[in-house]
Amino acid sequence: MAKVALVTGSTSGIGLGIAQTLASKGYDIVINGFGDPAAIEAERSNIAKTYNVRCEFVPCDITKADECTTAIETAQAKMGSVDILINNAGIQFTALVHEFPVEKWQAVLDTNLSGAFYLSRAVLPYMQKNDYGRIINIASAHGLVASTQKAAYVAAKHGIVGLTKVVALENAKQNITCNAICPGWVLTPLVQQQIDARSAKENIPVKQAEIDLLSEKQPNVRFAQPAEIGELCVYLLSDAARNVTGTTLSIDGGWTAQ
Ligand code: NAD
Repeated sequence: MAKVALVTGSTSGIGLGIAQTLASKGYDIVINGFGDPAAIEAERSNIAKTYNVRCEFVPCDITKADECTTAIETAQAKMGSVDILINNAGIQFTALVHEFPVEKWQAVLDTNLSGAFYLSRAVLPYMQKNDYGRIINIASAHGLVASTQKAAYVAAKHGIVGLTKVVALENAKQNITCNAICPGWVLTPLVQQQIDARSAKENIPVKQAEIDLLSEKQPNVRFAQPAEIGELCVYLLSDAARNVTGTTLSIDGGWTAQ
């Protein structure tokens, strides 16, 4: 029986790339995230047909603890087990600290940090019972270093790196690992919003805004593709990575080497 991976925020961007990459390696997939129901169903059936795996959609607003518990129970019931949890869903909001709206701070923390905690606490008892589990948290270069105007995001991403270490330590005696992937820039809708905002604010062409954004932080001046994050997940799920736990793996074009 193929192992089952639940990927949060897999209706778009990196999560979708991870879901497709894992499906291409034969993992059964549970997708999750917001979006148009018809588009989500098209994605679900496309993954199932293209890769000949089981694929189910389980709705869940990860900012709600009770929905997270229900989502794990639903996924367990539909798929038989949840062996792999990939906490990927995330949002962004930018403002200086002294201008940062409190409700935006809370929304970013709820989505980018608390959601991973709610789902981890719900799935771990099943993993402990099975003596098998892999949790991968999609953090960010902002889990390791900071940028201006991203107080909530940087705090949440540093927080998820801490959560990763605690989950790894608490489960180290079992066949359960927990790691964080720290991507630099990956071209997804979340980043496109930042490029468009920069282009509008500075009154420059979108292409120029894209180059400026990359040049500021990422020495190789090249976006990663969502599938590249998926391939790093494939490694972390492999037997070769059974001793990799409680750590961060960067895929950031040299961002954090500076
Ligand atoms: P995206 O906006 O393309 O996708 C985000 C996904 O999360 C969507 O499927 C959305 O529906 C889902 N989502 C948002 N709020 C949710 C909620 N409350 N409950 C359930 N699902 C929810 O974003 P992306 O760029 O693919 O980012 C994915 C992850 O990767 C995020 O955690 C982000 O912080 C991280 N990341 C992205 C980059 C990048 O450059 N794109 C870099 C580093 C880290």
